[in-house]
Amino acid sequence: MPVTAKVLDGRGLAARIIDEVSANVAARRDAGKPAPALATVIVGDDPASVTYVRMKHGNAKKAGIETFDHRLPDATTNEELMTLVRHLSEDESVSGVLIQQPVPAQIHMTRVIMELDPVKDVDGFHPVNAGLVAQGLPGGVEPCTPAGIVLLLEDAGVPVSGSNAVVVGRSNLVGKPVALLLLKRNATVTLCHTRTRDLAAHTREADILVAAAGRVELISKEMVKPGAAVIDVGTNWVGGKQVGDLGEGVDTVAGWLTPNPGGVGPMTRAMLIKNTFEAEIRRRP
Ligand code: NAP
Repeated sequence: MPVTAKVLDGRGLAARIIDEVSANVAARRDAGKPAPALATVIVGDDPASVTYVRMKHGNAKKAGIETFDHRLPDATTNEELMTLVRHLSEDESVSGVLIQQPVPAQIHMTRVIMELDPVKDVDGFHPVNAGLVAQGLPGGVEPCTPAGIVLLLEDAGVPVSGSNAVVVGRSNLVGKPVALLLLKRNATVTLCHTRTRDLAAHTREADILVAAAGRVELISKEMVKPGAAVIDVGTNWVGGKQVGDLGEGVDTVAGWLTPNPGGVGPMTRAMLIKNTFEAEIRRRP
């Protein structure tokens, strides 16, 4: 079967976004203003987290954004992490803070994130930002992966308003906020999860299908509506190779498709860079 899907090129769009931020940072530097700075925090030594943060630092440097790399041991207590986050909130030289997830079991992320100044919450994870986004109000920081997905659809000219959008996965990090951002753009949104009865019946109705379950081959080509825009968020590792949530042949049914890798991942990092620049502007116009 021939490939029908146009590529939703996350890598290309991400590079354009980072170039744009880079030009804006340079203009501010020329005006004598300090460069924005991103502080990242890793608790423990999860190799995937270390790789993701290294890539985020690489993107930040490309945009002219300074980086601070905080590494804490696996046994870090909640109090210790809260103290660091409080310090970063107060530190004038820091524009944005990212706490890389997952964190060890003893860490209570909600309590930790409450210590962060919402203006510096470049991950869009603080309840103040999540609440503003949920209510469709301006001023909230949109979380990076969901914001990147919506921008990718809009940039490719995929019709969102009036479409049936189905999101598989309901996490606070991806599924729930992407559903809210699509709803804000007037899609009719269905959220699916492990208790959904007959997942395929929902996905087959989707003009926009966001697969964010983290399950290898969860979405077969029979579950995809011909011509749909399919966003493959899942990041799974099979034999040392990154794969998403889609089965073989989805590209012969879909109208648009994100490569994986090369789709949502680069967009997530680009939105982090954009959010960091915007956090700096909000703090020091
Ligand atoms: P998560 O917290 O584990 O949530 C997974 C969600 O998928 C849950 O809501 C779960 O339902 C649902 N789910 C799991 N198996 C399912 C099934 N068989 N049928 C229907 N729903 C199912 O994961 P996450 O943080 O949202 O991330 C999702 C995936 O995206 C992961 O692979 C992650 O690595 C990837 N990701 C990629 C990026 C990127 O930049 N590329 C960024 C973030 C995340 P229940 O709620 O019922 O358990």
